[in-house]
Amino acid sequence: MALTGIQILKMLPKTNCGECSIPTCLAFAMKVATGQVEIDACPYVSDEAKATIGEASAPPIRTIKLGGADGFTAGGETCMYRHEKRFENQTGIAVLVTTEMSEDDIDGRIERFNKLEYERVGVIMRADLIAVKDAKNDEASFTALVQKVLDGSARASLILMSDSAANLAAANKVCGDRTPLLYGATLDNADEMAKLGQEAKAPIGVKGSNLDNCVEVSEKLLAAGLKDVVIDTGARTVRAAFEDNVVARRAAVTAKFKPLGFPTITFPCEITDDPMMEAMVASVLIAKYSGIIVLSDLQGDLLFPLFLERLNLFTDPQRPMVVAEDIYPLTGPGEDSPVVITCNFSLTYFIVSGEIEGSKVPTWLLIKDTEGLSVLTAWAAGKFGADLIAQFVKKSGIEDKVKHRDLIIPGYLASLKGELEEELPDWTIIIGPREAGHLPVFLKEWKPSN
Ligand code: SF4
Repeated sequence: MALTGIQILKMLPKTNCGECSIPTCLAFAMKVATGQVEIDACPYVSDEAKATIGEASAPPIRTIKLGGADGFTAGGETCMYRHEKRFENQTGIAVLVTTEMSEDDIDGRIERFNKLEYERVGVIMRADLIAVKDAKNDEASFTALVQKVLDGSARASLILMSDSAANLAAANKVCGDRTPLLYGATLDNADEMAKLGQEAKAPIGVKGSNLDNCVEVSEKLLAAGLKDVVIDTGARTVRAAFEDNVVARRAAVTAKFKPLGFPTITFPCEITDDPMMEAMVASVLIAKYSGIIVLSDLQGDLLFPLFLERLNLFTDPQRPMVVAEDIYPLTGPGEDSPVVITCNFSLTYFIVSGEIEGSKVPTWLLIKDTEGLSVLTAWAAGKFGADLIAQFVKKSGIEDKVKHRDLIIPGYLASLKGELEEELPDWTIIIGPREAGHLPVFLKEWKPSN
């Protein structure tokens, strides 16, 4: 049962020292209760209180971590809908390789796993895991394939899939400290798998035949003392997988039903043979609660939209994406290059910088901290006014970088021109275009006015 802010306050020192960056213990307790800050942020809480609060405030979907150069985290979710709070850990995208595939097929998948990555608003988007399947129930070929994947990608987190606990144990040894997910536990082998999970300190994947069976297996693993579980409800149609994921999330989040309080793994690769349909299924299951999806292959044209969907869903709706306030030199500007200023909403930054880079006109781009608000919203909120822009221009150091004194402001801020000229008497304020798409022509035609 979650603790209230007042219950948490009783376990705090109540000195209001502010070292947690929050002015009072009461405000801190309220934020811990709503999951906005971790109890560890207060250095004065006893270990006993930390354990009590930590257990009570643990997310209803358990957080599961796997090894790999970047590591991979699934679960930790606390709500049904993103607008209620936020989604915590983005759906992991995995590609499947099996011991029945040819060397070329396996090499191609590993190569695409390593190569296919894209940058969007400063975020690198790429696949996270490789699922290695013991399709022949043969320890030697399985461990050899696991070793090949480990050697082929230092970054990949691994899912080891076998019906044999012994084969999984052997393959897990090869993984060293790159803790894999060991899949799949059934009613028949649950005790053996629970023991393996505890010895290997690795999460175990439940391989259910349906939702009820999945609950039974999960209960058996929990009763054996296992804590880290990932669940496959056995659904192999998009409708069943969608429904099971929703039921599991609701049972965990609203009814605190422990056997389903784990991230789910789903297999679009086993739902259809059509790559386009597989991407569509994956898109549904990313939106509806899969902790991990396993794809049959990775193709850029199908993967990129999935990455974008995932990025959009797993950004925090309460926190605008921002870039740091700074001077950004684009395409090697010099002392005669134009100076453009805009806000630090990351979408604005990437659109404006993209247009400038596309124009190939070397430019100094000044990014003013507007707390992630876009140009007009920031202006309306008093965060992008003439006085603040002038202060930033003076302290930014741009005056040492250029000989001229032309400052190009967004077209939407044309009404600030007079005020800005008063605040920055040495500068000529140039009204730029309203739309970033018109910047290339504008910059190519710009000449210093002084
Ligand atoms: S650091 Fe701890 S004691 Fe200090 S204000 Fe924050 S919660 Fe209170």
